[in-house]
Amino acid sequence: MHAPSLPDRSIEAYEAVIDVDRLERLRSLASRLDGVRILHVNSTATGGGVAELLRSIVPVCVDLGVDTDWLVMDAEDDFYEVTKAMHNGLQGEGPAFTDEMKATYRRETDRNGAELDEAYDLVVVHDPQPLGMLDRIEETMADAPVVWRCHIDLTDPDDAYLSFVSDYTKRVDHAIFSRSAYVGEMDVPEPSVISPSIDPLAEKNRSLDPDAIATERDRLDPLSFDRPVVAQVSRFDPWKDQFGTLEAYRRASEEIDGLQLALCGGMAGDDPEGLELYERVAGEAVDDPDVHVLTDLTDRAVNVLQTEADVVVQKSIREGFGLVVSEALWKRTPVVGSDVGGIPLQIVDGQTGYLVAADDVAGAADRLVSLLEDDERRTAFGERARDHVRERFLLPRQLEELLSTFVSVLETHS
Ligand code: UDP
Repeated sequence: MHAPSLPDRSIEAYEAVIDVDRLERLRSLASRLDGVRILHVNSTATGGGVAELLRSIVPVCVDLGVDTDWLVMDAEDDFYEVTKAMHNGLQGEGPAFTDEMKATYRRETDRNGAELDEAYDLVVVHDPQPLGMLDRIEETMADAPVVWRCHIDLTDPDDAYLSFVSDYTKRVDHAIFSRSAYVGEMDVPEPSVISPSIDPLAEKNRSLDPDAIATERDRLDPLSFDRPVVAQVSRFDPWKDQFGTLEAYRRASEEIDGLQLALCGGMAGDDPEGLELYERVAGEAVDDPDVHVLTDLTDRAVNVLQTEADVVVQKSIREGFGLVVSEALWKRTPVVGSDVGGIPLQIVDGQTGYLVAADDVAGAADRLVSLLEDDERRTAFGERARDHVRERFLLPRQLEELLSTFVSVLETHS
């Protein structure tokens, strides 16, 4: 395992988005965690929402005085094949779950667990990848409660995967889900619900000055923001439905002159499906000069794309939460998204964007056209979107809920 390098963060810097009462409550919770060592474990330092969350949560907790570490698993490629299959299975469509796959999972989680040589007072395990380390955690930190944080869409999980993962999750002390509808799908003690959040100070989300925006816009050339732009920012993953977005764009471009589509995707370290899907999407788009398939953009470039696009699309088939939706809304860009997983928590239909059924390409295209044709509506949606995210989906709110959960889990299990 390795500890990723982290940006500096100071809670004081959040003064524009945090009221005095919340700051007081955060400090009080942090003081109750004085002397407590907390460890987060997940399976990638970059790419995807979990890494995005930890990159902010961990340094702000440290700044608040909560002794917090983050370790990322290191594993052979076959482990990530298995854990992506587990992810897909829990989201409802995995391949047959073989004994060989289970053995690979156990081998790599045992190997990573053997590297745990420091003692912590509370361990937070993110998603199913590190759950196999439970034996080792129980052995080396017998008194430390384990919190499992599930970031997956559990709307309709496959039984074989559910049962394998539940054998671990029923042994943890507390489980956190991103949406209340997921509670009850899995055998866990003490479930609670905490919505994820975006970090308004991260390079990806902070306000950029006009010169920085102009420079990034130039770098994104030949994508031109002088013509209408629809954007999607997502890992290349079948659940993110880039092909559905392409089809919706094609239909919308029959109505909107000069429409362009930017499909931006990174390759998460723990997602072996990315490259193959990227190649298929890029192949599908190759004949249309107005479709731009972009990879490995910097956080600043993603910021500019989400800010400068006229509409963002998130037509996922499953979505645990979907940070990209709040990222776009925070930048006052309306989002057309499917009515699945965490997306309807973020899009207020007809107010900050539009919700469509996950398989409704024609509906998505209609909503794109109506937003692209109406500058005033886009502006009004954008303003409401910013307020909606400010109230519900910024880091300080999530931090308070997390720290409060840690305090109560430690009290219950002392
Ligand atoms: N992301 C990125 N570059 C990309 C694609 C995605 O930085 O090319 C980031 C995106 O901005 C967001 C995260 O990866 O912060 C994706 O999180 P989300 O919850 O939307 O989806 P997940 O990948 O966890 O399923």
